[in-house]
Amino acid sequence: MAVAPSPARQTGGERLRVTGLVQGVGFRPTVWRLAREEGLAGSVRNTGEGVVVELWGPEAARERFRRRLLAEAPPLARIDGVAAEALEAGEAPADFRIEASGRGPTTTGVVPDAPVCADCLSELFDPGNRRYRYACLNCTHCGPRYTITEAIPYDRANTALAGFPLCPACRGEYEDPADRRFHAQPTACPRCGPTLIFREAGAEPAPGDAVAAALEALIAGQIVAIKGIGGYHLAVDARNPDAVARLRGRKDRGGKPFAVMVANTASLAPWVVPGEAARHLSDPSRPVVLLPKGSRAETVLPGIAPDLDEIGVLLPYAPVHHLLFHEAAGRPTGTGWLDEPQGLVLVMTSANPGGEPLVTGNAEVAERLADIADAFLEHDRPILVGCDDSVLRARGEGSGVYLRRSRGRVPAAVPLPEAGPSVLALGGWLKTAPCL
Ligand SMILES: [Zn+2]
Ligand SMILES: [Zn+2]
Repeated sequence: MAVAPSPARQTGGERLRVTGLVQGVGFRPTVWRLAREEGLAGSVRNTGEGVVVELWGPEAARERFRRRLLAEAPPLARIDGVAAEALEAGEAPADFRIEASGRGPTTTGVVPDAPVCADCLSELFDPGNRRYRYACLNCTHCGPRYTITEAIPYDRANTALAGFPLCPACRGEYEDPADRRFHAQPTACPRCGPTLIFREAGAEPAPGDAVAAALEALIAGQIVAIKGIGGYHLAVDARNPDAVARLRGRKDRGGKPFAVMVANTASLAPWVVPGEAARHLSDPSRPVVLLPKGSRAETVLPGIAPDLDEIGVLLPYAPVHHLLFHEAAGRPTGTGWLDEPQGLVLVMTSANPGGEPLVTGNAEVAERLADIADAFLEHDRPILVGCDDSVLRARGEGSGVYLRRSRGRVPAAVPLPEAGPSVLALGGWLKTAPCL
């Protein structure tokens, strides 16, 4: 008897178990979109181990789906493994759905903090957008993660945004699988989210635009504590030797080098030699990259890294940094150094008094930085886990080595080629990185 082609083979089902950093990164909406584009039915849901996808449809479409899932995974996702198994023949569902999370123990990781993405940046500077100049905007592809997470599972109630109920507009985006903010736990807007303020030390928040006021203070040579992602920076105008010296004295910094932040890589010459190493500046961890000093380093940036032949440089990564540099770039001519090609150059050093741990809480900051900062530019989104800037030194062949693997890199694991014996390793005295 001739065997007819089995319909189950033609339109069979399979289950994919995806492991890695696949939760809280927009993974399920990506699966949902790809399945719909390939005409597949089924479902996707978070589980304790990762994400489970059930697919129904022609083998060719499922094959394309598997390929595209690896190629088009969202930017913050990291797929460690995909295990496929056939589903028993049965009734295929009518469409593709995102299902509620499964219960059970959670082993999936929290992803590291990410710099503001290109889509959010365009919203930040679009006067017609409801998040125009909003310092705490983010989406599933960017923003804080590790530093705002209190517990697993990664749901809004377990993050620093727990105290900020979503407004109807944000709620609509949060619940729409086609939206970039579908289940973006830290999403916020000026109506429902944290607020950016500027205040002089010991004073109430100043009225008016916080970013413009902070820039004025910096131009006047003041030390401004700026709240970012995993902590505060102490910022001063890097070209003002008096301000730099005052920061050094107040922070009890001795002759240790400061890192500087610039708007973009075009602002680097001629005081550093960007070279190949400058591409590390755009690494997703936006690290401080050590770059060789250029011919004018000592003239343009005196006292930043005395007696060293390198300067630590980093690019803006939090929306508030972009707002500051944008504000500086938008100044009318006649403001002296802001007219120079390099524009604004800021010393950005971790806001901890010499030798003490990072400062993260607003109240704690007011107390511990009372004798250091002249003013504060800060939002009221709590930092739940302090996280310093990562520091990277470039090596030949375009690779780099992390001297400090921190913001943007932790808590992601470093995969090893093979498992060795169990070892408990503990880091230094003040900044400890325990790992098992
Ligand atoms: Zn974004
Ligand atoms: Zn809102």
